[in-house]
Amino acid sequence: MGIPLTLHDTTLRDGEQSAGVAFSAQEKIAIAKALAEAGVPEMEVGIPAMGEAEQEVIAAIAGLDLPARLVVWGRLCAADVAAASRCGVPMVNLSTPVSDIQIRHKLGRDRDDVIAAILRFVPEARARGMEVCVGGEDASRADEDFLLAVVEAAQLAGARRFRFADTLGVLDPFTTRERIARLRRATDLEIEMHAHDDLGLATANTLAAAGAGATHINTTVNGLGERAGNAPLEEAVVALRHLYAIDTGVDARRLPEISRLVAQASGRPVAANKSIVGAAVFSHESGIHVDGLLKHRANYEAFDPREVGRGHRLVLGKHSGASAVRDAFGRLGIGVSEELARRIVARVRGFATTHKRAPGFRELMSFYLESETARVH
Ligand code: MN
Repeated sequence: MGIPLTLHDTTLRDGEQSAGVAFSAQEKIAIAKALAEAGVPEMEVGIPAMGEAEQEVIAAIAGLDLPARLVVWGRLCAADVAAASRCGVPMVNLSTPVSDIQIRHKLGRDRDDVIAAILRFVPEARARGMEVCVGGEDASRADEDFLLAVVEAAQLAGARRFRFADTLGVLDPFTTRERIARLRRATDLEIEMHAHDDLGLATANTLAAAGAGATHINTTVNGLGERAGNAPLEEAVVALRHLYAIDTGVDARRLPEISRLVAQASGRPVAANKSIVGAAVFSHESGIHVDGLLKHRANYEAFDPREVGRGHRLVLGKHSGASAVRDAFGRLGIGVSEELARRIVARVRGFATTHKRAPGFRELMSFYLESETARVH
């Protein structure tokens, strides 16, 4: 696409907002460092209005002078602007509901109040030395013409960015593309896409927004975040590179360690089949796939797992064939004939079905010895 796109990771804000997730100060600092060292250019690091303890952690992260732009999150109100200004970060996202349902039933206000608040609090934050992103909460359910009025007011008030939040994760990529393209035509502001994964479409919607002219995209490590979470950092980095030749500046080889760090700190283990970082996503068992992979890697490899700090694992199991067995024994320095491999395959299948896992070294050796004996006699 050749357009400038900045990745903005919100693991330390939306990610931490996941029910039951709470990072310690040390964990927040470790995650911020790891993200910055991997090349994440922007990150949202917390919510100053939560109180002094949170402000101190944010200030500590700001004090590290990391090579990443730091942003804090607040509501569009005087107290949150004041709290944000105490943290020493250069930018604040000031969030306001923009859908009628939330304006009426959450804020108890009307559209004019929202515009008035933008015109009042954005300049106040600017006067306190911060750059401002106006966060459009529930933008995906907002009246489209009102959204244009919001963006116009934000620009007039001195904001540099508008965050389009699909707060409930209700968009699909086609609608996302239309909505973002319409905003893109209407404003010179930076546009940031904030997608949620309630329908499993967060990454798809994020890519669609990028294609339609969004300048910034929100991600979280492992897709952590409210409910079903946000667009996963690891998916965005690899998909943008491979599908659109967009370099986010993030070193993808660091993704597994960052994933482990966040999984541990969040108490949210990563599913084995989670794309890019899941334990099993570069493991192959089925006879057809393993045979094809051994003949030529590109047969069953969309990209080299080393690119994301991983490697292939050939796993023996119920769907293994003779060629996987011969390969496994070959790597142990043991030559196995085609006929012997077939006998061992039968043992492997029985084992995997009973034990729900791949056989280990000792088990393989006993299959070998038993099959070898059976052949001789
Ligand atoms: Mn969110």
